[in-house]
Amino acid sequence: MNSALSTAGAIPLVIPVFIPHEGCPHSCVFCNQHRISGIQGKPLSADDVTRITRTWLERDRKKNRCRVQVAFYGGSFTGLALSRQQELLAAVLPFIRNGAVQAIRCSTRPDSIDAVIVNFLYARHVRVVELGGQSLDDSVLQNSRRGHSAADVVQASTMLKNAGMELGIQLMVGLPGQNFSSLRGTTDQVVSLAPDFVRIYPVLVVAGSGLARWYKRGEYRPLTLTRAVLQTAWMKKKLMAAGIRVVRMGLQPGRDLEKALLAGPYHPAFGELVNARLMLQQTRKLLSGVGPGQKVLIGISNRDLSVFKGIRQANIQRLTRLGLFDRFTLQTDPQQPRGTMKLITPD
Ligand code: SF4
Repeated sequence: MNSALSTAGAIPLVIPVFIPHEGCPHSCVFCNQHRISGIQGKPLSADDVTRITRTWLERDRKKNRCRVQVAFYGGSFTGLALSRQQELLAAVLPFIRNGAVQAIRCSTRPDSIDAVIVNFLYARHVRVVELGGQSLDDSVLQNSRRGHSAADVVQASTMLKNAGMELGIQLMVGLPGQNFSSLRGTTDQVVSLAPDFVRIYPVLVVAGSGLARWYKRGEYRPLTLTRAVLQTAWMKKKLMAAGIRVVRMGLQPGRDLEKALLAGPYHPAFGELVNARLMLQQTRKLLSGVGPGQKVLIGISNRDLSVFKGIRQANIQRLTRLGLFDRFTLQTDPQQPRGTMKLITPD
């Protein structure tokens, strides 16, 4: 598509349908989906799925989206009995038949994927599966009471990719027992799995979770916000360099999450903090050979200007303190890919 012709319609719409903890064999130590999503009560019926889908489509009607997906989030979709999966998927079918929705996506556990399930999903219009991998370090997985191994993540990822599914992997920073070397090992393995996209979540201490008990007993210490931002930025840089999209960093902010939050590196604009940190790192690198009194031209995407400045101008202040702010002039360029910067040599 000619980018000059692109419109809001080109932005996909993902309709989230939350099925908190459905299909989960137990609760992972960091998790309390009921508190995070604010959804309590009895499981959703097929009618609920229809109503939610219709409401979102109606609200979004004027945007004329070219790609709409219904997503089952918050549980382990493929851990559900096939009849329950069928019930939920069938509720989306009329919207697929009339062209309002193009595909279905779901999130699930790596040990709830096998060849039968993959075929079952594919035949019912599921085209994107997000695996909760969290880490590919067996000791960290064990500490987090995940109940699956790193090998399960590798096996499920391979199976989904071979079936032609779009693959997403969810990862976490700040898991119990996770250090930088573990994080590096996980990132390397994820790069070799080549998922289509990744989400990175910092571990938060949420009321009602196993981690909340450990935290109160002094057995778990969360990452500081600064460390969580640095670790996430490091991972994002590695993943992007390998051509893997990082589509989200940090949990969706909201009142329910904030009410349930006991401790941990929460920030409502966590992803923006990470992106600002990456821009600061790039700027410092570009300026590494520029001495006092010299000035260079740096090109960035016009859509990255506020990220470049940082939240409350934090990057500008940092560059000023480092004596670097007067060593460059910014030039915005709509052609520059987002998140990248370059030195512009005068003609
Ligand atoms: S992290 Fe995933 S598998 Fe674990 S309890 Fe939460 S939703 Fe279930």
